[in-house]
Amino acid sequence: MASFLNDQLDFIFFFYGLAFLLLGATCSAVAKSPEAGRHWMMLAGFGFVHGIAEWLDLTALIVGDTPSFTIARITVMTVSFFLLMEFARLEAVRLGFRMPGRWIYPPLALAIALAGLVKGIVVANIAARYAAGFVGALGTGLVLACLARSLPRAAKGFIGAAAAGFAIYAIAAGLIVPAGPFWPARVVNHAAFSSLAGMPVQLVRGLLACWISYAIWAAWSQKHVADVASPRYTAYIRNQFIWTFVATGFILLSGWTLTEYLGEIYKQNVEKRAGVDIDLLASRLTGETAAIDAMVRSLAGSPSVLPLLTGGSRQEMDVGRVVLDLDVEASAAKRGYILNAAGDVVASSYQSDGHAGSSNDVAGASLLKSMTGAPDQNFVFEPGTGKHDYYVSYPIWAPDRGMVGVAVLAKSLEGFGMDLTDLGRPYFFVNPDGVILMTNRPDALRRTLWPLSEAKQAELAPLTGEAGWRPMLKGNIVDATWTDVDGEQNFVRRRFVNHTDWSLVILKPTREIFATRLLGIVITLLASIVALIYMLTKERQVHDDVLLDNRSKLQELAQDLRVKATTDPLTGLHNRLKLTFILADEIKRADRYDTPLSLVLFDIDHFKKINDTHGHLSGDHVLMQLSRVVQKLIRSNDLLARWGGEEFLILLPGADALMAFQAAEKLREAIARTSFDGIGSVTCSFGVAQYAPGDASDALIAHADAALYLAKNGGRNQVKLARRPDREIVVPLRA
Ligand code: GH3
Ligand code: MG
Ligand code: MG
Repeated sequence: MASFLNDQLDFIFFFYGLAFLLLGATCSAVAKSPEAGRHWMMLAGFGFVHGIAEWLDLTALIVGDTPSFTIARITVMTVSFFLLMEFARLEAVRLGFRMPGRWIYPPLALAIALAGLVKGIVVANIAARYAAGFVGALGTGLVLACLARSLPRAAKGFIGAAAAGFAIYAIAAGLIVPAGPFWPARVVNHAAFSSLAGMPVQLVRGLLACWISYAIWAAWSQKHVADVASPRYTAYIRNQFIWTFVATGFILLSGWTLTEYLGEIYKQNVEKRAGVDIDLLASRLTGETAAIDAMVRSLAGSPSVLPLLTGGSRQEMDVGRVVLDLDVEASAAKRGYILNAAGDVVASSYQSDGHAGSSNDVAGASLLKSMTGAPDQNFVFEPGTGKHDYYVSYPIWAPDRGMVGVAVLAKSLEGFGMDLTDLGRPYFFVNPDGVILMTNRPDALRRTLWPLSEAKQAELAPLTGEAGWRPMLKGNIVDATWTDVDGEQNFVRRRFVNHTDWSLVILKPTREIFATRLLGIVITLLASIVALIYMLTKERQVHDDVLLDNRSKLQELAQDLRVKATTDPLTGLHNRLKLTFILADEIKRADRYDTPLSLVLFDIDHFKKINDTHGHLSGDHVLMQLSRVVQKLIRSNDLLARWGGEEFLILLPGADALMAFQAAEKLREAIARTSFDGIGSVTCSFGVAQYAPGDASDALIAHADAALYLAKNGGRNQVKLARRPDREIVVPLRA
């Protein structure tokens, strides 16, 4: 499980980074709100910078790492932790705690840099995590917990969750560090966590990043919900929570499946190609040795060599030696030998050269098997010269005497090695102990492929030297596996050759797999961005919709209030307030255009009696019916209003006293003629006044009121014109 999850590190880094980038975006929105404060920009900064740090880790995984890139990544990570510390510090100060000033950062940065300079980059990484990561995340957890207490219920839960997330993150990112040469990094580290929990710590950090980001975003949405205060928006946000959760899960899961699928296709491709490559390499070697493999058989079976072992004439022995020389030459072997059953060399090729054959020439041990009567093949490495030879031996049988000796041919592998130096992919030729004795990667020569016991290391020390202490793999492999080679994932394929314990090994780096997986990651990123844009647009739309809705409701309400404030509820006519405004306007207009303006004030006669006799409700009906009657009779630009109780006022723009008088008279007659429902006839008394330049509206009304008073006094059901000492108006006699 742990190794499977380790293979997913690229995807883990991807969503880890994405979650923190989203945290950055949310916090920068929070920072704009005056309640939260500008220092949330620090948390936003942490989110952005740390998100980028994770994506840089992803880049290192895909395109490979260099020491300077490692330094850059650790610097970016340290900066992000400083921003986190700064947020915690500022928030703590705001909450009233005493905190050290900003001066703490330069010495801290200096200490981390020094640790890196003196002890190496891994120690700088650990120091940054302990000193800034742990402190910053724990501090942020604490200040958020304090902040949560002062918040309303829903937001309190979310900020509390974010606080818990940061506290755990402090442990996951600040205490669980890469393995280091000192306590506690020696014990509490990535590897220990991975073997204990069965997952890489980066997965935990990534999940925490999602958790924190989601919690803060949710808390922020709660504030929006409270601000907008609309049930529709609240319901939408609640739905959005659930859908975001589902959509995030869905996108990440399907993105991961796609990534895994693409990687798997490539992986299988690599595995297949590795199989083809190693077969090709092995057949090249077999081709190199095929001639002596065949020749040794024919040599062993040749009756001409028997006399060398079973005794014969000098001439027969010479023939045997000549056959040996010829066979060596024909098979392009380096040397040939005939050994007796005791393992002593009885003949070797080119003896005439003066080279006396001895059993030392033939790697004795490798021939033991053929001494027992079985053919044998072996590779021999000469540590002194660094030369490789291939030995093949075959038992020689004499009729009736059984096995009498062994024929041996040796071939140099220098040509094979030379041919492979230009091979594009790394290959290793490995002896049975796991020592690499031929390779096109000079740095790997004489290293061991897998770890050896101390005793074995000591035994092999003359062969391997220092290189034997640095095995390339973590363990022995039989045929093929995906494994770590010097810190980088590779597909390792091993194949035994020529029926020996020697083997050929090739490597296929996984970097290209990550590149293929990157396609899956990029598609996931695009899907996330599209989903995010959709979600934000939708949220904006609902938000604006709700605000617009609220605004139009308010406008309706205002309109309603305005109507209510200026309308008489019983009759639906303008009320006294409205008429006062209109009268002021009309007076202005009359002044400017020098047009006449008149008022008619009328009052129902003995209305009290109507109320008393028929009841208040009937009185109301009279008021309503009267308004309708009068409204129908006046001109469209005349304005009727209920002045109070059973008193009405008509404003007649453009009408002089005479015209107003005639209009009032017409109304009086019409009212008197009207039969009021359930009551019969009702009469009214009228007072008429014309506006004179300089009149205040109050004065004009007072004149009309005085005329009305005259009408009442005069016996009611009549029209009276205001007596104006300043104006001469002819009042027509009543018909
Ligand atoms: P006058 O001819 O002198 O005007 O006599 P009046 O009875 O009409 O005058 P008075 O001022 O004595 O009484 C007015 C009455 O009108 C008193 C009040 O109860 C009644 N009234 C005022 N407003 C309303 C109303 O909205 N509905 C009803 N039903 N009665 C009203
Ligand atoms: Mg009255
Ligand atoms: Mg009255």
